[in-house]
Amino acid sequence: MNFTQIRGHQKVLKLLTRIRETEKFASAYIFSGPEGVGKRLTAIAFAKSLLCMAKNKDSCETCPACIQVERGNHPDLILVKPEKGVITVDSIRNLKRTLSWKSFAGGKKICIVDEADQMNIHAANAFLKTLEEPAPETIIILITSKPYRLLPTIISRCQQIKFQPLPFPDTAELIRLKKKEVERNDALLMASLTEGSPGKALSLEVEYIKELRDEWIEKVKFLINKEPIEFWGEDEISPKDKKELELKLDLLILWFRDLLRYKIYKNIEPIFNKDKAEEVSLQEAMFRLEDLINILFIIENYKATLDYNINPQLTLEALIATLKSRDKNLYSYQF
Ligand SMILES: [Zn+2]
Repeated sequence: MNFTQIRGHQKVLKLLTRIRETEKFASAYIFSGPEGVGKRLTAIAFAKSLLCMAKNKDSCETCPACIQVERGNHPDLILVKPEKGVITVDSIRNLKRTLSWKSFAGGKKICIVDEADQMNIHAANAFLKTLEEPAPETIIILITSKPYRLLPTIISRCQQIKFQPLPFPDTAELIRLKKKEVERNDALLMASLTEGSPGKALSLEVEYIKELRDEWIEKVKFLINKEPIEFWGEDEISPKDKKELELKLDLLILWFRDLLRYKIYKNIEPIFNKDKAEEVSLQEAMFRLEDLINILFIIENYKATLDYNINPQLTLEALIATLKSRDKNLYSYQF
């Protein structure tokens, strides 16, 4: 894939093209932005355009260098990624050794560190030394969806290039290009759930997502009817799988955002759970506008705490206490 085949990210591609044309390379870049929007694809396309033997504006896709990059075996392109969720100091030492060798093709050496935020502290410190003493003709690209987890000393030595989510219709279109059986409304639901991340959306099964969503809809129904219900079950309070819980919370957030959208616009056009339009209109009527805003505030806060390993039980208690003092009526939902 070359630059012309990458969907979206026009600003980033323009910037990278300018860097390549003016040859004003930084020794290291951070490609940051949401998961699954094409950071890695862009990094590889950029590397390919620098290694391509045709030396045109974009990579030719046919020369031996382009083919080697595509196959992942170009000797001047080094890929580092986490193993079992961590990038170890040994990987960074290997990288340092490889970077000290001369380029095989006589041009640049490019190193891409995928999920760079997964470097443990020893790896990060070793990596910092690599950045402090950059090897000549070497370009390092760190890829991360969580730049705040990188050492500030690493960030300050790199040029940061920020990727934005893709617009939802573009994401939906990409989903349907890869998975032709997905219906348009479902593709839009997935695009919205993943906030414009085709990579993330394609890794999820639509039917499974809808099942999870339907469980929430039932729970909210109970909540509205003030029937006793354990809204947050064992899976939510002591999650075994944090990613799965994040996904479930994203679905719940999406549902309440749709209730809020419907309350404001009284129209199904802006909602994403279109297959549940009737349920949206029924449930929306049962909440006041301020309740919906407060509920979204709680769930989003709850989700944010997951990333910092704060005890979810404590967070929930604190949130409920906050609500109690803010809005007695809302607390009666026993949320
Ligand atoms: Zn080429």
